Amino acid sequence: MDFFKPLNVETNTKSSTIPSGEGEKVKCLIIGSGPAGFTAAIYAARANLSPVLYEGLEPGGQLTTTTEVENYPGYPDGVTGPVMMDEFKKQAQRFSTDIRYGIATSVDFSKRPFKVVIDENKLIEAQVAIIATGATAMYLGLESEEKFKGSGVSACATCDGFFYKGQDVAVVGGGDTACEEAAYLAGLCRKVYMIVRKNYLRASKAMQKRVVNTPNIEILFEHTTKELTGSNGVEGITLINNKKAEVKLNISGYFVAIGHKPNSDIFKSWIETNEVGYIKTVPGTSRTNIPGVFACGDVQDPIYKQAITAAGSGCIAAIDAERFLGEHGIA
Ligand code: NDP
Repeated sequence: MDFFKPLNVETNTKSSTIPSGEGEKVKCLIIGSGPAGFTAAIYAARANLSPVLYEGLEPGGQLTTTTEVENYPGYPDGVTGPVMMDEFKKQAQRFSTDIRYGIATSVDFSKRPFKVVIDENKLIEAQVAIIATGATAMYLGLESEEKFKGSGVSACATCDGFFYKGQDVAVVGGGDTACEEAAYLAGLCRKVYMIVRKNYLRASKAMQKRVVNTPNIEILFEHTTKELTGSNGVEGITLINNKKAEVKLNISGYFVAIGHKPNSDIFKSWIETNEVGYIKTVPGTSRTNIPGVFACGDVQDPIYKQAITAAGSGCIAAIDAERFLGEHGIA
């Protein structure tokens, strides 16, 4: 397939972490349990693929760390992330998806059935595998940031920006995501501070132009965050500027946009990824470079990263998997 470059096969033969002997035979294995994984499960189960889904490190995915979700169609009054993921799970179970606790720890995709090791000891042999392991938002690692997660600290402006309508907020980061988040928030909030640790933005020229030309965005170059303060959610921030002086601002929302890490490490020696680890899929499909291995959700989406787009791509993956099995005569 021209879309993919051949991977270094030498690195692919490291299968020492794969237990020998026969594993449990599974027709359709889904790895990951966010909106992508559960939607893939609903479609796969209804198509008679008897899916087995392993929930992974963070059952329910990133949404379980958010509070209110107001932009997912079908919930006119909004819903909390954990409740929504619980409903996705129940819907997948209604069609008899076998949902299990466990983390995929290594894989051997050299041939079908694909070997996937769960929790370093249980071997699964799957005819098709759907990777829906998501991405993890990166945070600065400050104690105060941890304290205010869900009460002023967010890693998604599209998800949480609405709660700060008319207020002053800050976005940390200088890449495309930070610029997009700042531009989005500028349409809702009174003032948006961009906190950038270098003296330039890393974002594309077009995005730079957009933030520089937005009157209610103020870019604070060469500033870093010391701490967030507040007695009832975030109320202020203390920054350190390039002269090592403290700068205090009143803000009620703090949006961290310093990048996401796609959860693709265990697949990388088999599955082609981009330079930062997002799994490459043939555009418009969930097909990876290995026929029979499909990817959906944030692990293959560096751009949109929304629950609804993840769910849509989970549906695509299940349909691609069903067609693959049909084409290979696997009932
Ligand atoms: P990037 O890695 O491009 O940018 C991260 C930003 O966060 C950089 O400015 C970086 O600073 C800063 N940063 C990292 N760690 C810290 C820290 N500890 N403290 C303070 N600042 C920090 O991530 P993005 O999520 O912005 O983008 C990821 C990829 O996705 C890029 O390739 C981007 O182009 C792409 N993208 C494309 C979009 C589109 O096409 N519409 C939209 C969004 C993303 P420094 O520069 O100093 O390292």
